[in-house]
Amino acid sequence: MSYPSSYYTQAQGVIDRRRNHNNSIYISRYNEIKQKYPEITDIIDKLSQTTEKLARIILAKPDNIKEQIEQLKNENLALQQSLADTLTKNGYPKDYLDEIYTCKKCGDTGNNEDGRCECFINELRRIAAENLSQSLPMGLTCFESFNLSYYSDSPMTELKGLSPRAIMERNYKICLSYADDFRVPYESLFMTGGTGLGKTHLSLSIAKRVVEKEYSVVYGSVPDLLRKIENAHFNKSEEDCEVLATLKSCDLLVLDDLGAEFDSQFYVSCLYEIINTRVNFGRPTVVSTNMTLNELQNRYTDRIVSRLLSMRRLVFCGEDIRIKLKTKNNSH
Ligand SMILES: [Zn+2]
Repeated sequence: MSYPSSYYTQAQGVIDRRRNHNNSIYISRYNEIKQKYPEITDIIDKLSQTTEKLARIILAKPDNIKEQIEQLKNENLALQQSLADTLTKNGYPKDYLDEIYTCKKCGDTGNNEDGRCECFINELRRIAAENLSQSLPMGLTCFESFNLSYYSDSPMTELKGLSPRAIMERNYKICLSYADDFRVPYESLFMTGGTGLGKTHLSLSIAKRVVEKEYSVVYGSVPDLLRKIENAHFNKSEEDCEVLATLKSCDLLVLDDLGAEFDSQFYVSCLYEIINTRVNFGRPTVVSTNMTLNELQNRYTDRIVSRLLSMRRLVFCGEDIRIKLKTKNNSH
């Protein structure tokens, strides 16, 4: 996959900041210990001379080189042990003065012997997903602001004797634990029901919580995302490249308002490619639609519909919350 060069600069920036942050924690720990227990700094200084001593032995090539290296190794082990002992004796964890790395594979440089480290690639994917997403509305739309009292608590025969509130409470709990337990691979969710029943609210809440866990998340309405693929397909610019690839590979894809897009063969085949690839690789997708099952079957191919129905389905019910909110505000 090739991304715009600005994404690489951004990713390196994130990794550099991470390294500097970890290093400043290390330095403040070192200074703290140095002040309180000067004898420990003495051990650390001796430890830090090991590499230099080793280099000197190797360069000098003495006859007993093996013994000398062995002796140095033992000295080093003894120093490490006494450092750990002194730290634990004074109530610190034994690795308190170890260098701190978020990614041990590359020491927070972004590169290891195989080239770009996994942490760098993950960062790139996160940036690509973020650039493709509609900006997530901060604050208001989250699990905490979801209000179950907007749903009627009168049991209804068409809901098998349950109230809309009971069903929505169950949907809410499923979405909340979906976001909290999020991992890849993971199951996908398919939200159906009329407009204004909270599908967007809950799918956005999932997206926001998963973004906070530093997964790569693309959130967007289906018409908007398909237009982006179309633009990328027909007028290739650096910023537009890899749109389809990012949609297929991000950790979580939230497709809001399926069915609101313009009806075209190109769009249908893009949708199939995205949904099918993600289902096959176990990459979680949250799809929401206002369409009924019948409408979906008339609009899309059987292949798409069967993929959608293979996801965990959440049926939203009740009355349009936006209308309810309006009447509530007017009556004040
Ligand atoms: Zn790394």
